[in-house]
Amino acid sequence: MNEEMARYFTRPDLKAAKKRGKQEVSVLQFEHIPEEMRGIGDGKRYMIKTYGCQMNVHDSETIAGILELMGYEATDSEEEASVILLNTCAIRENAEDKVFGEIGRLKTLKTEKPELVLGMCGCMSQEEGVVNRILTKHQHVDLIFGTHNIHRLPHLLKEALMSKEMVVEVWSKEGDIVENLPKAREDGLKAWVNIMYGCDKFCTYCIVPYTRGKERSRRPEDVLAEIRDLARKGYQEVTLLGQNVNAYGKDFTDREYRFGDLMDDVRKIGIPRVRFTTSHPRDFDDHLIDVLAKKGNLVEHIHLPVQSGNDRILKIMARKHTREHYLELVRKIKEAIPDVVLTTDIIVGYPGETEEQFQDTLSLMREVEYDSAFTFIYSPREGTPAARMKDDVPMEVKKERLHRLNRLQEEISRRKNEALRGEVVEVLVEGESKKNPDILSGRTRTNKLVNFRGPKHLVGRFARVRIDEPRTWTLKGEWVEDSPMDQVGS
Ligand code: SF4
Repeated sequence: MNEEMARYFTRPDLKAAKKRGKQEVSVLQFEHIPEEMRGIGDGKRYMIKTYGCQMNVHDSETIAGILELMGYEATDSEEEASVILLNTCAIRENAEDKVFGEIGRLKTLKTEKPELVLGMCGCMSQEEGVVNRILTKHQHVDLIFGTHNIHRLPHLLKEALMSKEMVVEVWSKEGDIVENLPKAREDGLKAWVNIMYGCDKFCTYCIVPYTRGKERSRRPEDVLAEIRDLARKGYQEVTLLGQNVNAYGKDFTDREYRFGDLMDDVRKIGIPRVRFTTSHPRDFDDHLIDVLAKKGNLVEHIHLPVQSGNDRILKIMARKHTREHYLELVRKIKEAIPDVVLTTDIIVGYPGETEEQFQDTLSLMREVEYDSAFTFIYSPREGTPAARMKDDVPMEVKKERLHRLNRLQEEISRRKNEALRGEVVEVLVEGESKKNPDILSGRTRTNKLVNFRGPKHLVGRFARVRIDEPRTWTLKGEWVEDSPMDQVGS
């Protein structure tokens, strides 16, 4: 198969994806599965391999929901699957390399089983370079669809099943909102709920504003109805999801309703724990802090990416916040919520980063005292403005900075966890520990992982656990008694 033999509905265009017009966001409703596709998957299996962030994990739940409406059932076995979809991530180069490795590896299976539909979706599909590479080098792929095209899956799968050509449909839209999408959620305990899509921040290292479209918020009544439904079904925790949740509601033209208002309304729903991710410091307003300070089901954990502690680097990153603004925000949050746990994302070795500038990141880390941090070495992503900058910090320097940063974070994390020794914490018990089935594991309100010995009936419920062995990244403890929280929502 060559490029001529591919069947395009639309192909990706990063330039078009960058456009931010004044076009109104349309709220579309997911239609039923077309008559001819109902039952097409009866007796057949699907497998979705998900890479990258939580947004992708949640998209995979939607894709699974659509496939299940067509009759397919999930499987963990590639040999059993009639449809294999790779839901991909474009944020880092090694994530892309992994996907290409996987596509190459699956060629043997596809050759042995030509009726298998092998597809790719997610952020990588939005990149012209990736799609062209698949068209020329990986012609055994049957289907490519983009992040805006998930609701079109029944039609696209039909095309892929009927035609011998590769089916490609990737819209480079500013974006719409599709409501009423089915979801096959991974567990009955914790659920992810999209509150907004896209991002307009255009940080210079990031591909998301190009792959996910413009910022657009779901209507609060749709979000609240979904959360109420999850509460009715017995879910114990929801995480409100968006690339930049603090921008929620900025795009509404018919009402003044922002993220703080949404959190205040979610607070009144009988679901025991509510989290959100991810925040951008720029849009984090005082009203939101006031609402979070009311606590209740709003947990005292905030993930607040900073990326760098140096103003010059923050400017080159186009982060739209300064060190001072960030530290002032942290001060306000800590004042309103004294037991808050803060976590962050940091990039080291950005183009032009000097030792002094890196020292500013270390000092900011010391000042804020994060409980944990996701730390990364900068690597350029094709299509982003930073990819045109000179990547001039040598790899050994980047690695050495990352090492120093991680050592400092470990020291702080250990100290923070040590402070919990002897404390009794509330744990939502998720299941048996991966390493030892006699040990249960779950998370605190602040999202810390706790392992403890306890009866199996606690799984799916809240337990009170005394921490007797704090470690750097996890806590070990002893079960005290059933938590009164167990009465809520179960
Ligand atoms: S805020 Fe910046 S880093 Fe986060 S998704 Fe938007 S552009 Fe990317």
